[in-house]
Amino acid sequence: MDIIEQVSLKPYNTFGVASIAQYFTEIESRKDIDELITWHQQHDLRYLLVGGGSNLLFKNDYQGLVAHIRLKGKAVIATDSDANYVRAGAGENWHEFVRWTIDQGMAGLENLSLIPGTVGAAPIQNIGAYGIELVDRLHLVEAVDLETGKSREFDVAECQLGYRDSYFKSVGLGRYLITAVTFRLPHKPEWKVAYAGVKDELEGKALSSRLISDTIIAIRQSKLPDPVVIGNAGSFFKNPVMSESAWQVLKAKYVDLPGYPQDNQRVKTSAAWLIDQCGWKGKKQGSAGVYDKHALVLVNYGGATGADLWAVAESVIRSVEDKFALTLEPEPRVI
Ligand SMILES: Cc1cc2nc3c(=O)[nH]c(=O)nc-3n(C[C@H](O)[C@H](O)[C@H](O)COP(=O)(O)OP(=O)(O)OC[C@H]3O[C@@H](n4cnc5c(N)ncnc54)[C@H](O)[C@@H]3O)c2cc1C
Repeated sequence: MDIIEQVSLKPYNTFGVASIAQYFTEIESRKDIDELITWHQQHDLRYLLVGGGSNLLFKNDYQGLVAHIRLKGKAVIATDSDANYVRAGAGENWHEFVRWTIDQGMAGLENLSLIPGTVGAAPIQNIGAYGIELVDRLHLVEAVDLETGKSREFDVAECQLGYRDSYFKSVGLGRYLITAVTFRLPHKPEWKVAYAGVKDELEGKALSSRLISDTIIAIRQSKLPDPVVIGNAGSFFKNPVMSESAWQVLKAKYVDLPGYPQDNQRVKTSAAWLIDQCGWKGKKQGSAGVYDKHALVLVNYGGATGADLWAVAESVIRSVEDKFALTLEPEPRVI
């Protein structure tokens, strides 16, 4: 494991923020993981695991070691009468992996096409899009406990996957390095195409995983900024979930307030709608701002620092609190 000093993190975060890592290394093998653990025991410094950096905001330079996960490999490891079990290394690019499963004739991940980042980070926030979440296709997660050096497996229940949340993002934050993920992809396709927008595009067409994937790619490209062109981390805020009664009170005041019923008599509303009502869509503060086509996306228009982006985030949170008495929570990890 080679350690380099003073490395720019600009290529390692999709906001394109030019923070500097005090130390930087690449994790490509189990040997590298063991050396990372030893390094951590010998140095009184924190470390941060980074995949594609598409769910991170660096507010400042990073004092410590940034470990970029590059564990590779993908294969069908088992088949039973119902499903294929497909395992991928944590450093595999998520979208390339999804397309590879489609090329192999397997269905199940098509709705999650074009989500940036790596396979290993996908369970961290239980990635979701267009009516599917990782939890719907996950079989197990392999990880190394960075405190003990021991490998262990997490079944689906142990991952505690929720809305943009998991054991790894909450109680277990920073403790486990995910090395590989195995997915269960049923032989009989369970296509989900009822989501608004997708349904209209596919009306009357012969369904296939490739067609659904291509359709979702086109929809995403029309709505979300490409991080290569405009720095961003996708949705910056989680959609607030509240009790049905609290939602009814707000709805009485704001008749257009969206509401999506959840389990346990809770209702999710749209953070994008709340932000839009506060007039933030398309607003800029210097080089940072809110994307003009999507109020949930904070963008780096060029040269914004992490602090600039965080200042916009805080202003948005304050506006929504003042108007609706709701506190928005960031979806990415803010460092
Ligand atoms: C344009 C755009 C669109 C997006 N759309 C969606 C969407 O539709 N749905 C959605 O859910 N998300 C979306 N995202 C967010 C993001 O793509 C996902 O959260 C993705 O899974 C992050 O992967 P990453 O490899 O970039 O993780 P990173 O940003 O590198 O890391 C995220 C977190 O995971 C940890 N981590 C990374 N790798 C490992 C590992 N191997 N072991 C342990 N911890 C690890 C990091 O320490 C950090 O806490 C979008 C982002 C962008 C830029």
